[in-house]
Amino acid sequence: MTHLLNADLHCHSVISDGTLTPEALAARAHAHGVDLWALTDHDELGGQHRAMAAAKALGMRYLCGVEISVTFIDHTVHIVGLGVDPDNAELLQGLRQTRGGRSERAMEMSNGLAKVGIKNAYEGALKFVGNPELISRTHFARFLVESGVCKETNEVFRKYLTEGKPGFVPHRWASLKDAVRWIVNAQGMAIIAHPARYKFTPNEEFALFTEFKAHGGQGVEVVTGSHCAAEYVVYADTAREYGLAASRGSDFHSPDESHTELGTLPMLPGKLTPVWDLLATRIQ
Ligand code: AMP
Ligand code: MN
Ligand code: MN
Ligand code: MN
Repeated sequence: MTHLLNADLHCHSVISDGTLTPEALAARAHAHGVDLWALTDHDELGGQHRAMAAAKALGMRYLCGVEISVTFIDHTVHIVGLGVDPDNAELLQGLRQTRGGRSERAMEMSNGLAKVGIKNAYEGALKFVGNPELISRTHFARFLVESGVCKETNEVFRKYLTEGKPGFVPHRWASLKDAVRWIVNAQGMAIIAHPARYKFTPNEEFALFTEFKAHGGQGVEVVTGSHCAAEYVVYADTAREYGLAASRGSDFHSPDESHTELGTLPMLPGKLTPVWDLLATRIQ
């Protein structure tokens, strides 16, 4: 295939913290000219069969996907899996385990928010949750916007939901090694999501990329809705340096919140191997 394919390989539905159904996302991706699409809900494969069927009905190519939450040297890192078998038992079990603990974490977040005068945030966030096993910070952010505490979700994260803020609760997710193994054993490719978001030191980033490769990881997101244009260039170089294939995805969550529309990002920079070139046999 080609660099010029309009591939959007990262987005979220109501099965995790997006606001659209898999069917509505498929229609929206198709309407924006996406040729190859993947739904990558956080820690969950529950939307895959619906997304695949919707893509098929529209004549749009599809890769099964997931975005796994990982804890790496005390930071949360996201690993995208593309081309995975959505019925693989080891992957399903690993994701179930990774999702576990989200409810307790959410209650602790709510207690933290109560201490600064924001009452009943757990119940409030629950109203926005599509999948009870997947209550996330995004749902709290939506509740705090709805109740007028903040104007937009970005502001909620900045003031309440990030490290050191009242609603932040440190959490231990899957290990890097397990997440990559689950993906690879499910016939997928593991990809480091939005690397610029982690604010690692050069040494930490070196450790992440080196260990990721050693565990069998093969790709990195270069063009993503979470990167600015300068970061496309930086991570295109990183992809070449580590011999990783490059991915492209909007990380679209909601028409009201996402700055990047499905299928509208720039194409991958040159001299990179697109991840879809290595996933040809996994495309539905
Ligand atoms: P969680 O898995 O519960 O920690 O929630 C993580 C999710 O919060 C991410 O996948 C994003 O959708 C969202 N998120 C993280 N940081 C921000 C931010 N600064 N602004 C808006 N949304 C964010
Ligand atoms: Mn999210
Ligand atoms: Mn992410
Ligand atoms: Mn994402």
